[in-house]
Amino acid sequence: MASRAGIRLAHGRSPLLAASASSSRPPPVLCLPLSKPKPYRRHLLVPLWRPLAPRSSPDPSSSYRTGFSSPVVSMSSSSYEKQLAAAKKAASLAARLCQTVQKALLKSDIQSKADKSPVTVADYGSQAIVSLVLKMELPSEKFSLVAEEDSADLQKDESQETLKRITDLVNDTFSSEGTYSISVSEEDVLAAIDSGKSEGGPHGRHWVLDPIDGTKGFLRGDQYAIALALLDEGRVVLGVLACPNLPFTSIANLDGHSSENQIGCLFSAQTGCGAYMQSLREPSAAKISVCTTENPADASFFESYEAAHSLHDLSSAIAKKLGVQAPPVRIDSQAKYGALARGDGAIYLRFPHKGYREKIWDHAAGSIVVTEAGGIATDAAGNNLDFSKGRYLDLDTGIIVTNKKLMPSLLTAVQEAIREQTQSASHL
Ligand code: AMP
Ligand code: MG
Repeated sequence: MASRAGIRLAHGRSPLLAASASSSRPPPVLCLPLSKPKPYRRHLLVPLWRPLAPRSSPDPSSSYRTGFSSPVVSMSSSSYEKQLAAAKKAASLAARLCQTVQKALLKSDIQSKADKSPVTVADYGSQAIVSLVLKMELPSEKFSLVAEEDSADLQKDESQETLKRITDLVNDTFSSEGTYSISVSEEDVLAAIDSGKSEGGPHGRHWVLDPIDGTKGFLRGDQYAIALALLDEGRVVLGVLACPNLPFTSIANLDGHSSENQIGCLFSAQTGCGAYMQSLREPSAAKISVCTTENPADASFFESYEAAHSLHDLSSAIAKKLGVQAPPVRIDSQAKYGALARGDGAIYLRFPHKGYREKIWDHAAGSIVVTEAGGIATDAAGNNLDFSKGRYLDLDTGIIVTNKKLMPSLLTAVQEAIREQTQSASHL
C-alpha cells in the first residue's frame, strides 16, 4: 500500500512518503547519448528509451520488447550497452513479481532461513526471473551469477506448495508482461535459482544479484530493491536498482502525500556513462547527480531502518561531529544509494555490528549508481570497495558514501568517532 511504502525519518514519523565502487580507473568508453539528457532536478524526463515492438511484431527485424533499449550508443568494445538493457529488463520484471506478492502477502509466503533471516516466495521468484531473463537476453554469453538465494530449502518435501506458488508467480509474471512466451517448470525454477551459486572473483564476468534487498522492509510494506550488477575482471561495470516503493520525486520536493502512481524507480548506471533514473512504469530516463553541498549543516544522511544492520549511535555521533542538523533518514535496502545518487540526501552511513561480513550483492549495484552520479563510496578507512574477492566484501569497519567535497571531512569525523567509541568501550 502506498501509505506504508514510505521513508521513515528517525524520529518515528512515517511521512509517506515522506521521504566508486571501482577500485581502478574505468576503461575508455565512448557514450553518445541519443539526445542530451536534462538533469533530474528540473523534473524533465527525456525519452532515451524507444518503445519497441512486441515479439509478435510482423517486422522480424524489430528486436522488441519491454520498452527498454539502451540510453547510449557506444563506439567501444568495452561498452556494456547490451548487458545494461538486459539487466533493466530482468530487474523490472522481477520488480513486477515482487509488487504482486507484496500487495497480497500470505503467511505461507514467508519462511525463515538457517540464519533466522526471513525469505519469501518473492525473493526466490525474483532470483529465478532475473536468472532466466539474463540467459534469454544474452544467449551467447558465458553465464555466471553470484546471488543471495539457493534452492536447498525449496527441495524439502514440506516446501512443495511453496515451490508450486513460486513457479506460478514466475509464469504469471512472464505471461502478464507479454514479452516472453515461455512456461517454466518447477525444475526450471530450481535450476534458475541455483545458477546463482557462482563464487565471483577477480577474473571474467559475473552478474551479482540481490533478488530482494531489504526483505524486512518488503515484509513491512516499506522500501526494498532488486539490485543487479555486472562485474568484469573484479570491477563493477554496470548496475541497476529497481525500487518499487521509492517515491519518484525527490524526498525534498514531497509535500507529505503521494499516490501509487508516483512511486517506483529504476536507477541504472554504466561505467563512464553516468547514472540515470526512470519510473518503473515509463520508458523515459533522466540523468541524475549527487547533491554537491560542501556544508554538513545542509546535509541530511541515510542509514538502515533496522538497528540490527547498522550502529545508529555511531552514525549519530558522526553526524554531531560534522554538524549535520537534520535527523537521520532511515530506509531499507539499496534504495538509499538511489536516493543519494539523485541528491535527496548527502551522506549514507553503514556500520554493521562486530563480526558481520558484508556481501557483494548488498553494495555492487548501489555503489556504481552513486559513483556514476558523481559520488564516492568507501570503507571507514577511505579504501575503495573491492568486489573482486568473491561473495564477501573485505573491508574496514563500515561503508560511507557521499559527494567528493564532503568526503574528507566525513572521513575525519568517522575515524574520530570510531576511535572515541573504541576508547570508551575499553574503559568499561
Ligand atoms: P539495509 O536495509 O540497508 O539495512 O540492508 C539490508 C541488507 O542487510 C539485507 O539484504 C542483508 O543482506 C543485510 N544484513 C542482514 N543482516 C545484517 C546484519 N546483521 N548487519 C548488516 N547487514 C545485514
Ligand atoms: Mg540484501
